[in-house]
This record gives sequence, structure tokens and C-alpha cells, in this order.
Amino acid sequence: MDENTFTENFNNQGWPSKTFLCYMVERLDGDAAIPLDEYKGFVRNKGQDQPGEPCHAELYFLQQIRSWNLDRNQHYRLTCFISWTPCYNCAQELTTFLEENRHISLHIFASRIYTVDDSGCHQSGLRALQAAGAGITIMTSEDLERCWVTVVDHKEKPFQPWEGLEVKSQELCEELQAILRVRRC
Ligand SMILES: [Zn+2]
Repeated sequence: MDENTFTENFNNQGWPSKTFLCYMVERLDGDAAIPLDEYKGFVRNKGQDQPGEPCHAELYFLQQIRSWNLDRNQHYRLTCFISWTPCYNCAQELTTFLEENRHISLHIFASRIYTVDDSGCHQSGLRALQAAGAGITIMTSEDLERCWVTVVDHKEKPFQPWEGLEVKSQELCEELQAILRVRRC
């Protein structure tokens, strides 16, 4: 991923109408986590403005994971850095995937909370995903830096936090915690 795409999409104060999802995979062996660099990359959604059927980034990501056929006798940790939290439908799809693939764990670090009310209850989708074992957190400065170092073509430049990053991240973190704790739907 190039630097501008990262900055445009992962800035937590922006509102881009597209979603980018960066992923990395580690194989867990006892206490060790071995990065599998062959399964590292990013996908983006296909929007209304592009040819063909629109498709959310998470669904492209699931297609990719399924195509890898990760060994069921091993344990893997998937880490996703995603510019928006999953919508209701994507959260359901990820939940089903985790339920069917107990050898895979998932941690989602989201830059912003997707609040478009797509099917009446995007919040319950996130809670179901959490209940299926996924970790869902808001990206802090450290997470953004980890994404920068791992996936962005940074040309040896260090990650530059923007003004207000920490304050916004903290705000979103509290908002997400309220969503994940409170049963309203
Ligand atoms: Zn979605």
C-alpha cells in the first residue's frame, strides 16, 4: 500500500467513502508467533462507482483466507487493520467463518466506527463477532505505526502521527466499548 492511500484512509478524522483492509498472518507455536509474510497484503472494497457488483473489503478478505487453506492442525492469528469497522453483513460473515475455523483467531484494529445503519443493527453484528472470539479494538498510534511498518511502502520513513490522533482514537475507543458492552438491539 502506498503512503498516500494509507494516510487518506486510516486518518481517524477523515470520512472516505471506501474501505481498505490490511492483513497479516502469524502461525502460533506455543508462546511464539511466527509471521507468514506470504500472506500479508491489503484489499479494498468495490464501490458503486466501479464496474461489476459492489463488494465489501471483508468479503474479498474472506475469499483470500479461504483460498489459502490454512492447515487445520496448526493455529493461526489473523490481524486486520481496517479503515472502518465491519457492517452488519460482513460481521455476520466473519462470525460464521470463525465458528467454522476454530484453528484461526482474528483481531480487528479499526480506524473508525462504521455507523451507517445498513440493516437496522450494525452494533449487534460487532457484538456477535466479539462473541465468536474476535478481538475488536480501535487503532491507537501504536497500531497505526504497526500497520505502517508492516504493510505500507514507507520507504524507510517513520510513521508520522497527525494532530489529534490520540484524542480521536480515545473517543472512538470509548464509543466502541459502549457498543460491545451494551445490549440494546
Ligand atoms: Zn460490509
